[in-house]
Amino acid sequence: MPITVRLCFILLWVALNSKAAVVLEYHHISDKTPKSTSISVDKFTAQMDYLANNHFKIVSVIELAEKLRNDETLPDKTIAISFDDSYATVYQAAYPLLKKRGWPFTFFINAAAVSTSSLFVSWDQLREMSRNGVTIANHTMYHNHVPRLKDGETRSQWRERTKTEIEKAQKTIAKEIGNVPKIFAYPFGEYDVEVQKLLKELDFIAFGQQSGPLGSQADLQSVPRFPFGGSFTELDDFIMKVNTLPMPISRIQFFADKHHEINNLIVKQGEQPYLVLSISNNNLLDKIHCFATGQGAINSEIIAGKLWVQAKQPLPQGRTRYNCTAASSEKGRFYWYTQQWLATDKTGIWNYND
Ligand SMILES: [Zn+2]
Repeated sequence: MPITVRLCFILLWVALNSKAAVVLEYHHISDKTPKSTSISVDKFTAQMDYLANNHFKIVSVIELAEKLRNDETLPDKTIAISFDDSYATVYQAAYPLLKKRGWPFTFFINAAAVSTSSLFVSWDQLREMSRNGVTIANHTMYHNHVPRLKDGETRSQWRERTKTEIEKAQKTIAKEIGNVPKIFAYPFGEYDVEVQKLLKELDFIAFGQQSGPLGSQADLQSVPRFPFGGSFTELDDFIMKVNTLPMPISRIQFFADKHHEINNLIVKQGEQPYLVLSISNNNLLDKIHCFATGQGAINSEIIAGKLWVQAKQPLPQGRTRYNCTAASSEKGRFYWYTQQWLATDKTGIWNYND
């Protein structure tokens, strides 16, 4: 076989077997629940029909996590499905539909909410789902803002409190369901470097709520998921997202300003941190467009071969995400990377109410 043909086969193999997958995240499946966290049964059904008709392979979050842990390749068009927050509509609407298709899914539950009202599932319903292949997993006990320190709390007190709550949720699910895997979803998708360290020590793979596909550089304590609900329920948007490719990033850095690198995702209200991306495919550098939550398109410039991305307005308290995308050479497929930031108030105090 001529060497160029052989090379083409190798490149094709790499493209088809690259470690890329998309995790879907839903809350309510209903048109009677709050719009911002809901998708209607009809729209959810249309999304699942699209996956079936276009030969996507649905794997469990556990299978995906194990492959990531072992650094194995994942075929293109691999999808995992997840739901957060213990809502009853997952049992009522999504479970029968996915069971009929024989598709696995994961339900991340805030354990203290289970069986407390008709809004939430019951332990009996969770046991029934678990017997039928659904994975029930940890989303804390009380759905707290995990990275945020309480007033007057030291870092070591925060660590103890957080570790205790995660372990309590794990034990509660194990007692009720019989088994519980070591996977975790951050409430509100909020994480920072300290939380990632803690979850790594506890041997959890942890999922965020920042959009994007998983690439070979995926950090196992901040695995991205595409959330669907609110203004993101249309089929066109879904099709674009499930076909995304991981941005070929070789290094991610954070800077408070042009001269000060920081090793954290936490800033103060009013700051405008830089996300600095080194891209392994230099041809892409000037094709990347970035956006920030509530700010639309934001500035990016290429300095010494790296992309420097900065919000154009000061960050408000709470969560802000920088989304960066670029068209790929495959029609309709975009490279995608999202970075989440967290901002305290101007004095460094956390707000627990947003
Ligand atoms: Zn949640």
